Amino acid sequence: MAQAVKGTRDLFGAELRWFQWIESVTHRCMARHGYEEIRTPILEEIEVFKRSVGESSDIVNKEMYDFIDKGGRHVAMRPENTAGVVRAAIQHRFFDTSDPRRLYYIGPMFRYERMQAWRYRQFWQIGAEIFGVAAPEADAENLTLLFELLRELGLSKLSLSINSVGAPESRPAFYQALRAFFDKSESQFCGDCRRRILENPLRVLDCKIPSCQAALEGHPVITDFLDEASRAHHARLKELLNALEIPFEENPRLVRGLDYYTRTAFEVLSSDLGAQSALLGGGRYDGLVKQLGGPDVPGFGWAIGLDRLAMLTQAIHGLPPGKKPALLIPMGQRAALKAMVLAREWRKAGMDIQLETRSITLKKALQTANRRGFQLAMILGDSEIDQGIITVKDLNKGLQEAIPQDGAVAYLSSSQY
Ligand code: AMP
Repeated sequence: MAQAVKGTRDLFGAELRWFQWIESVTHRCMARHGYEEIRTPILEEIEVFKRSVGESSDIVNKEMYDFIDKGGRHVAMRPENTAGVVRAAIQHRFFDTSDPRRLYYIGPMFRYERMQAWRYRQFWQIGAEIFGVAAPEADAENLTLLFELLRELGLSKLSLSINSVGAPESRPAFYQALRAFFDKSESQFCGDCRRRILENPLRVLDCKIPSCQAALEGHPVITDFLDEASRAHHARLKELLNALEIPFEENPRLVRGLDYYTRTAFEVLSSDLGAQSALLGGGRYDGLVKQLGGPDVPGFGWAIGLDRLAMLTQAIHGLPPGKKPALLIPMGQRAALKAMVLAREWRKAGMDIQLETRSITLKKALQTANRRGFQLAMILGDSEIDQGIITVKDLNKGLQEAIPQDGAVAYLSSSQY
């Protein structure tokens, strides 16, 4: 029997209901903050990721689903979506004006990852990006949106770590100091880190392997090498976060796995997730639009793992949101037709109602209703039709009462189910 491909899964039932709830909260929250949705394709030319995420990053180097299509184009299934959003924004000339542009997306991403808890090869992200504002006020505004969204989702046990990775111009001096440090300690690092030391030493700081983290003890700190403008940016952002009462801690090892970050980099961890499981990450990427062939437009954004959000909201809130629909059970031919007419009327009035369309005994219909988790069964037989009523049975409490058919909508809308 065929199974879902390793690392992918089918979404249904409670998990999907949490996804849908999170998505609807997100759409409302983004609209209030002036962010417009954008839906870009899953497939992009591979260059979009090579030129943005970076050829030496694990994401591009090891984890990308890429292939040559039937027309000979080298394409990749997006491993993240900032690059795709930037590609689209350039293509559709969003940057022809200097007006700030706020965009968000929700969708699946693909990474050929090693299998471990809460890591999938197809996973979902929600992301928000603001383009066109280089000032730290944009960082703070975008983080305000993020924390407002997390608050609306009911998440509280969160910690924000921030760092500044400076401007690219300030990197050479830092790299030099880092390389001098690694010259003395290279043998203590894993094979991947030894490659990173040569290709992109910043990445070593991000390695999750405990022995590498231990070997990093006493490493040069990037914030000591910041250019003046980056230092001022970072100080102002911290001042704004304090004023907005968004608690944060500084983490000088936080550099993130993608090449395009400049200045602010941040992560949010949830204490409900394991130590290695960040809920989200993001930062500033002032050179990215230009790198992908657009004008010199600064940007700032983040991406949250929707899979992890859904898991957390389920752990925090328990049952998925939404009423359980009531089941309308007609008894006999005449009632079958009447029930269809009533169900259509009630749905038009906004009620959730499901119809038993099999001609089965009441006992069997009630068994199905119980098994499928309905809490309300509405029974319609000849005598109910004659009297203009409907029999309502609360399957949890075992209570039964008769209500007038023309009062059914009011009854359903006031019922707690
Ligand atoms: P990144 O794009 O790597 O910064 O990831 C941002 C967020 O997406 C992470 O903090 C996770 O919540 C989520 N994420 C990244 N990779 C995966 C994955 N393979 N499976 C599930 N969630 C992921």
